[in-house]
Amino acid sequence: MNVTIENDFVGSLPADPIRENYLRQVRGACYSFVEPSRAGKPQLVAYSKDLAERLGFSVSDCESDEFLDVFAGNSLLEGMKPFAMCYGGHQFGNWAGQLGDGRAITLGELIDNCGTRQALQLKGAGKTPYSRSADGLAVLRSSLREYVCSEAMHYLGIPTTRALTLVATGDAVIRDMLYDGHPAPEPGAIVCRVAPSFVRFGNFEICAAQRDLDLLKQVADYTINSDFPTLKALQETEKYVTWFEEVVNRTIDMVVHWMRVGFVHGVMNTDNMSILGLTIDYGPYGWLEDYDPDWTPNTTDAATRRYRYGQQPWVAQWNLLQLANAIVPLIGETKPLEDALNRFPPVYQERWEQTIRNKLGLTDVGSKESPLINELEAVLKLVETDMTLFFRELAKLDITATIEAEDPLHNMESVYYAPSSISAKQREQINLWLRNYATLVNHQNQNQDNRVALMNATNPLYVPRNYLAQLAIDEIEKGNPQYLEEWMSVLENPYTEQHGKDKFAAKRPEWARTRVGCSMLSCSS
Ligand code: AMP
Ligand code: MG
Repeated sequence: MNVTIENDFVGSLPADPIRENYLRQVRGACYSFVEPSRAGKPQLVAYSKDLAERLGFSVSDCESDEFLDVFAGNSLLEGMKPFAMCYGGHQFGNWAGQLGDGRAITLGELIDNCGTRQALQLKGAGKTPYSRSADGLAVLRSSLREYVCSEAMHYLGIPTTRALTLVATGDAVIRDMLYDGHPAPEPGAIVCRVAPSFVRFGNFEICAAQRDLDLLKQVADYTINSDFPTLKALQETEKYVTWFEEVVNRTIDMVVHWMRVGFVHGVMNTDNMSILGLTIDYGPYGWLEDYDPDWTPNTTDAATRRYRYGQQPWVAQWNLLQLANAIVPLIGETKPLEDALNRFPPVYQERWEQTIRNKLGLTDVGSKESPLINELEAVLKLVETDMTLFFRELAKLDITATIEAEDPLHNMESVYYAPSSISAKQREQINLWLRNYATLVNHQNQNQDNRVALMNATNPLYVPRNYLAQLAIDEIEKGNPQYLEEWMSVLENPYTEQHGKDKFAAKRPEWARTRVGCSMLSCSS
């Protein structure tokens, strides 16, 4: 294979001097060298052709035994020096100490055909010094979910780590899927994730917790030099402050995107927050089907629902506060960091309002929009409404007819889960909103084509719905890859209606309401 592996992270930051692979607390180092474990009978289930090409792998490379061996963790390309990172994190609001890559092993980096450095990381390739009480492995169902969603997010235009390969290892992994005392063997798998950097907020937090300011400065300087190069010429204090402001900015941007498409991360611990503002660590994530801001897919979080959809912006801000606390020593005063954090709510609000205007296809900025936008959430929550389909169908409304119509909801019935049980009162509330919406659009004197174009560019039609992922898993477990292939190709153009692909845009069927893996997931992946 004609790719050149580099090791910038390893070459720039201190390594744990111990080479043996056993559990330990690591100090004074950012990572530990570790070899991936062998996969018994690996099989390439899927790979991203687009990403492979971008990374310089030819089609024949991707179909070779060597490619499969490398991404199954069974061999290394020349120059690869695999390692697991050391980081800490706040989990569910509490400091959890050292966490680290318990089942992720970075193989090395290469420069993609856009000139960007990209790290290749196997997830599920065995134990590392950071595996704590777990096995370092991943099961096929959760690996498939990570593979699908990270690629889908990329095509949705949302900052994310990507997925190059999905490999079934041929080995069994024991999991207690519901944590109810019924462990069972499941097929194991490995995803190769790809990102310019896998550094998380937790990489800085662990240095601060260990009071290792030298290391903190090294990780910060390395991150700024390689991932925020325009800042490196700034004088020290200004450099770190501007960098933090940029991380705040990117994090806001990422969360606004999540809220736009109805994505719920599910485990927004600070070890799962990328310093680049990328969506990272797809575990018990989910997609809003019926619009419910209190929904979380993560059964492990069922009691407090800390990571529910509607709370994600404020959790992101809280996570940024933890990052700020960790990097204060680099700056010597808290004020500039507090200022940056205090700007989070207004900046978020401004970007969110702009996003909502785009979702509704409204262009003018005027006070008349506010009540309409304020009432939208109530209308979406009133009866079970499919969030994704609501905005796509809204785009199709005939504005002039809707203003006069007695029952405009009639044209939107397909977006409701139980249209026949909508009461007369609820119907009137929704109808009033639809008429007001049409009146406002009319008042803004907008060209119909422009409105539809703006809405359809903001509101995806195809998102990786929870139950579709489960269907893809069922098919793969039966040895049938066609469904996944077809779905992945549909997800490459999520904003464009594709002929004959209705099944990938359909609202959740009744059977999926309660099936495990569709409406709820645990962290057991
Ligand atoms: P998560 O919440 O999935 O991001 O995981 C939190 C921490 O647990 C991270 O340090 C992971 O590397 C680690 N972890 C999760 N699952 C496993 C596993 N099966 N084996 C080893 N470590 C794991
Ligand atoms: Mg994680």
